[in-house]
Amino acid sequence: MAKVTIPSYLQAEQFQISPDYVRISMAAAIELRLKPGRLLRDCRCGCINLLQNYPEGCYANCTYCGLARERPGVPEDNTFIRVAWPLYPTDLVAEKIAEKEAKDGVGRVCIAQVQDHRAYDDLIDMTRRIRRVAKEVPISALVSATTLNEERLYKIKEAGADIIGVGLDAASEEVFYNTRGKGARSPHDWDHHWQIIRAARRLFGPMKVNCHIIVGLGETDRELVDLFYQLKSEQIAGYLFSFNPEPGTAMQEAPRAPIQRWRRIQLVKYLIENYDLPPDAIEFDAPGNIARLEAPDIGVDAAIDTGLPFMTNGCPDRDGVMACNRPYGSYRPGEEYRDYPFVPNTDDLVVIRKQMKLDEVWAKIS
Ligand code: SF4
Repeated sequence: MAKVTIPSYLQAEQFQISPDYVRISMAAAIELRLKPGRLLRDCRCGCINLLQNYPEGCYANCTYCGLARERPGVPEDNTFIRVAWPLYPTDLVAEKIAEKEAKDGVGRVCIAQVQDHRAYDDLIDMTRRIRRVAKEVPISALVSATTLNEERLYKIKEAGADIIGVGLDAASEEVFYNTRGKGARSPHDWDHHWQIIRAARRLFGPMKVNCHIIVGLGETDRELVDLFYQLKSEQIAGYLFSFNPEPGTAMQEAPRAPIQRWRRIQLVKYLIENYDLPPDAIEFDAPGNIARLEAPDIGVDAAIDTGLPFMTNGCPDRDGVMACNRPYGSYRPGEEYRDYPFVPNTDDLVVIRKQMKLDEVWAKIS
C-alpha cells in the first residue's frame, strides 16, 4: 500500500482518524439509520460493529486482510472485509447508539482495533465515549493482541467492555505463522496471542472471551476440531468465519473452503459445544479431513433442524442471545449464505442439507 508521508501528529488534521472518527459496518450504519437501505429478507443487525481508522490501514500484514500493510493501492481504497465500512465522527455514532438504545435497545457494540501505535489509547477513548452516552449497552473490544498486555486488558475492562474478542484467525500455529506471523512479514505471534487470550479469560470470566477462527486459511479439519475442544475446555468461545478472498491481498487467488466442508465444520462445532460430542466420534483421513462422524441420528437431525449450527457465531446481547450476526460478514451481498444472520427457515435447511452431503461421512448410531 502507498505510504502516508505525513507524520502521526499532523494526521488528525489531514485525515479523519480515530479516536474522533470510526468506521462502521454497512449493516450497522443501516441499523442506526446513518445510511438508507434494508438488509436482505428484512434481517436486522444486532451488533453495531465499529473499526478504528488510520491512514495506513493496519501495520500488520495478514495475507488475507484488506487492511494489510503491503496490500497494493492507496489507503483510501481500503475496503476491509469486502463491503465498504463508511466513516463517521465517533461522537455522532455514539449519539445514534444512545438514541437507538433508548428507543428499542442495541444488542451490542463492538469496537475493533487495528495494529497501530495509537490503537490501544484510542480503544479506551472510544469505549468511554460510548459508555458515557449509553450506560448499559454491552460493549465488546475486538483487540489486536499484539498491542496488549495484562494491564491494558484491565484498563479496557475498566473503560466499559465486558467481552474481549481476539482475532486469532488461524487454527494452528503453522497457519498462524504463514498468514499472520513472521512468515507473512507480520508482527503477530502465536504464543503472545494465547497469553493474551488466557489473561483475558482470567480477567473477564468464562465465555466472556472469544477467538475468531477463519475456516479456509490452510488448516485441516483436525486442527479446527482440536481447537474447538481446547476452547471448550477453557470456557473460551470460538467464533467461525469463512475465508473469502479479498482482491489485492496475498491470498486473493486462494480458493474458499468448499461449502460442504464449511457446513460440516459448522455442524461438528455445534455438536461439540451443545451435545458434548466426544472426540472419538470424529475420525479423520490421512490429510486431516473429517472422514467419519459417529453420532446418534436423532440428536444430529434435531440439531440440524434447529438451524442454529449454521447461524453466525457472535457475542451475545445482555440476555445471552447472539447479537453479533454480521450480515455479509463472510459472503458478499447476492452470494449464498455462509453463516446465516437469522435462523434458517425450512427452505434454507433443504439447501443446507444438500450442501453438507452429510451422508458421505455420517455413520448413524442409535
Ligand atoms: S463476535 Fe462480533 S461482537 Fe464479538 S468480538 Fe467478534 S466482531 Fe465483536
